[in-house]
Amino acid sequence: MNFKYFRKLTAFSIVFTLVIPLWGCGSDSTSDLSVVDNETVLYNEESIVGVDEVKKYPITDNGIPIWDFDEYVNGEWLKSLEDSDEIYATRHDYVYDLERSRLYDILNDSSLSTLPSDDPLYKTKYIYDQFYKENVNDSLNESLIEFLQPVYDVETLEDLFDLYKNKDYAIFNNEINLEITGGNWGDVDALYNPKINENLLNEYSNYIANPADGGMSEIYANIEKLGIDQTEYVKMLSNLVVISQYSREYLNSYSNGYKYQYFYKDTFEQSNIEVPVFDIIEEFTDKEYNGPIVATENLFDYFDVIFCEENLDALKDSLILSIIYATSYINSDWNRYQDEKYDAAFYYAISESSDVLAIEYQSRFFDEEKMKEIRQFVFAIKTQAQKVVKEFEWLSDKSMETAVRKIVLMKPSYGVSDHVYDLSDVVLSDDLFDNFLNIWESRRKFSYSQLYYVDEERGTVFQQNFVVNAYYDPSLNNITLTTGLLTELLETDMTYEEKIAELGMTVAHEISHSFGPSYVNYEGDGYYDNWMTDEENNEYNDRIRRIIQFFDGKETEYFDPINGSFYADETYADLMAMEICLRLLEEQENVDYDLFFTTFASRKATYYTEESVALLNGDNHLPAKFRINYILGQFDKFYEIYKIDEESPFFVPNLERLKIFK
Ligand SMILES: [Zn+2]
Repeated sequence: MNFKYFRKLTAFSIVFTLVIPLWGCGSDSTSDLSVVDNETVLYNEESIVGVDEVKKYPITDNGIPIWDFDEYVNGEWLKSLEDSDEIYATRHDYVYDLERSRLYDILNDSSLSTLPSDDPLYKTKYIYDQFYKENVNDSLNESLIEFLQPVYDVETLEDLFDLYKNKDYAIFNNEINLEITGGNWGDVDALYNPKINENLLNEYSNYIANPADGGMSEIYANIEKLGIDQTEYVKMLSNLVVISQYSREYLNSYSNGYKYQYFYKDTFEQSNIEVPVFDIIEEFTDKEYNGPIVATENLFDYFDVIFCEENLDALKDSLILSIIYATSYINSDWNRYQDEKYDAAFYYAISESSDVLAIEYQSRFFDEEKMKEIRQFVFAIKTQAQKVVKEFEWLSDKSMETAVRKIVLMKPSYGVSDHVYDLSDVVLSDDLFDNFLNIWESRRKFSYSQLYYVDEERGTVFQQNFVVNAYYDPSLNNITLTTGLLTELLETDMTYEEKIAELGMTVAHEISHSFGPSYVNYEGDGYYDNWMTDEENNEYNDRIRRIIQFFDGKETEYFDPINGSFYADETYADLMAMEICLRLLEEQENVDYDLFFTTFASRKATYYTEESVALLNGDNHLPAKFRINYILGQFDKFYEIYKIDEESPFFVPNLERLKIFK
């Protein structure tokens, strides 16, 4: 596994895992424990190129028309990677290194003797230190063996449901899993979303393909320590395959034509459903929950096939494997006491205490004056976005009001979740295993407690603060600039043009998502609302169709031929962002457009290999070469500044340019 690649993939996938509306295409889960997986791989690799090196490649104009602007700007950098063993790289990776060293400083400098014991940073540091204690593995194994016993003792489905209701075990239950996500009507939804452990399933397929070789990973090493032999392990995995098939089938329901609907406690009672979904919510929050859960209409059919006596052993094995897998994060030799790139203690801290560390990080490293400038700059971009929208001639006055209001009300958040998870429920124990249960349970409680918020009480939670990225949430009408992104902006001396190409394009892109095909039908308060008339919808869809048609079938190295619809949202956001930023520049004097365009191209530069592209198939941003050439290629200004070869496939003739913002 190439960690760095996964780090990037995580950064990419954020946009569509965190903000997917409930009819979205099965996100790969963002709830509690999986966050561990995601963020575990964030900080593994040294940077590829620092900011100084980016500047090292001067742009020279030898008068020859440009065939490929990506090659023109990034060619030397891309070439420099060909002989490396990198499979994926971008040009702002140095930010991750800077962040990592600062986070280490925070974790190592913070002292238990000076912090109050109920301080979130104290708790973070306490557990971080606990990782380094000698012989912690042995005590962990003992705790784990003891912890698994009640699962082995389960004899009936009723016993199993009782165990599911127990908070200690509920956090590991993949079959009853609720994803807490933005709702459509000023609410927060609990989306029924069983989890599938693809890593364990792959382990099973590898074993079946080549049993002699075994193909067992470090997960098996942990299993063996618990006294489970390989034959037993393979049997458990085959049980997991059975359970996962039911879950997969359920997860495919929406694409197979089943609709989403609300299920209330009453609905469960009337149908005599014993599956303790609502009990689990209330167990964590200590409060009655009268709201719905969201699931496809065939939920009870799924319950019928999966939760039956014949599957009892398989369900038990699924739970046992889930417990061992989740705790292997803290309970394995390979990731402990090694070099800092594989430091499990560090991963724990940045994933479980992300907001706590982000707050400390900002207070130590962010300059308040510079942050004020960033806020003003974001405001300037919002203002320019309104001007672009005000020129949508096809919108009636009433719809225009809704559209503009949406931008006016859009809330930027800067680097930390609105609702901060601060470990306040965690009561520290001198046992590391107990502390992990405490943390995971308190995270789950915090997550479920969001269900009780409505309208403006709602806020972002569990943000991935340390990725260098931004994202838009339609149900909150919120744009988030992560601590990672802000670090990049605060650390780099930029001219106005560079600032527009970096911060401007990023913020404008997120604002523009609010008008992209997936999110256009939300209004300013985050309510789902078909606010456009039929006629307006036709005009809008015509513009989206033009984008799709422009890109459909285009081919570039390693990628499948482009399916325009798949890339429509991200491409719309890129195009509108470029429109907004070019207009901002037009209001300035003596603009260095070359600097703006080359900075944009450099920021979007991506080095791919066949291997990384195969793993990227969930990424719906255009391949970088297209993102650079074809986004810029729609704008007349670009052709004013550069002579683009008319024979090049990247040259877009004037009449074919996507002029969709009128
Ligand atoms: Zn986007």
